[in-house]
Amino acid sequence: MKTRAYVLNAPSSPLEETVRPLPAPQAGEVVVEVTACGLCHTDLGFARGSVAPRHDLPLVLGHEIVGTVVEAGSGAEHLLSQPVLVPAVMPCGDCAFCRAGRGNACPAQKMPGNDIDGGFQTHLLVPAHALVSLAGAPPSIALDSLSVVADAVSTAYQAVLRSGLERGDIAFVVGGGGVGGYVVQIAHALGAKTVVCDVHPERLDQLPADARIGVQGRDVRDVKKELHGLARGFGVPSLRYRIFECSGTAGGQLQAYALLAQGATLMLVGFTREPVQVRLSNLMAFDATMAGTWGCPIDAYPAVLSLIYEGKVKLEPFIERAPMSRLNEWLDALEEHRLNRRLVLDPNA
Ligand SMILES: [Zn+2]
Ligand SMILES: [Zn+2]
Repeated sequence: MKTRAYVLNAPSSPLEETVRPLPAPQAGEVVVEVTACGLCHTDLGFARGSVAPRHDLPLVLGHEIVGTVVEAGSGAEHLLSQPVLVPAVMPCGDCAFCRAGRGNACPAQKMPGNDIDGGFQTHLLVPAHALVSLAGAPPSIALDSLSVVADAVSTAYQAVLRSGLERGDIAFVVGGGGVGGYVVQIAHALGAKTVVCDVHPERLDQLPADARIGVQGRDVRDVKKELHGLARGFGVPSLRYRIFECSGTAGGQLQAYALLAQGATLMLVGFTREPVQVRLSNLMAFDATMAGTWGCPIDAYPAVLSLIYEGKVKLEPFIERAPMSRLNEWLDALEEHRLNRRLVLDPNA
């Protein structure tokens, strides 16, 4: 078996198209023929060298993968010919974290495009135990669109779950592109009021939010006043504020932290290397909760997929299909903030 891969050989160098042999799957492994792979900001960080992947270079990036199992090692034969999703976080399934239901934080996890070769290629070799079957997808849902479930949608779902959000709560989402947009859709689907703020409010148009707030150049206290006022208008007490920092910027983190109030919960979903200065004692004074969230445990995927299959979470308005052969151009476009939708890349185009 051969694969045509886009390989990162050195930080900040263009990905290089290479045809190379793929090893045969060993016991418990499969070869997935990639239908599509989403392009994520994490790929850009790895490609530009601002974040180092855990595996040494050369490495094939890409961690939002759907495809079909075309070869199976022993014990994985039942997956042959099945459409599957390759989760961005593949837990080992057998450690203290996995046994406690915290597989998304498993220290032995494998992430495609970070720990092992990822989805920017025609075929990839992955462990079979963490794959999620897409055999139940209704014909109205295009298989390639489900690639974004592997990270953007499932990460959003886990963040909402971890926040303890219930019907009648209010979700304040800081940063409505990508993951933040899915937090809005999922919180709305679960019966919460949703308020989303972004420096580019025009990209929030298609989100089912009760309010969309532009925050470019505004003072965080001014935005806090407006958002807390909206919550009061909806009759939601601060105990039921679920705040989601999805921008992955220092400014967004300061805004999200400023939204804390008595009994509120703040989830950190976005990532930035930049430090921020806050008064941590606010958490104490407010009896508030703040937590980070990474990936999504495998057993949560059926619930995520159900929301999509039932049309409660929409993917199509937020994705754009593009040929993988122009991957280097797409990385530039992502870096220059020229993409408004998540790119779903076709390895055969
Ligand atoms: Zn990602
Ligand atoms: Zn584990």
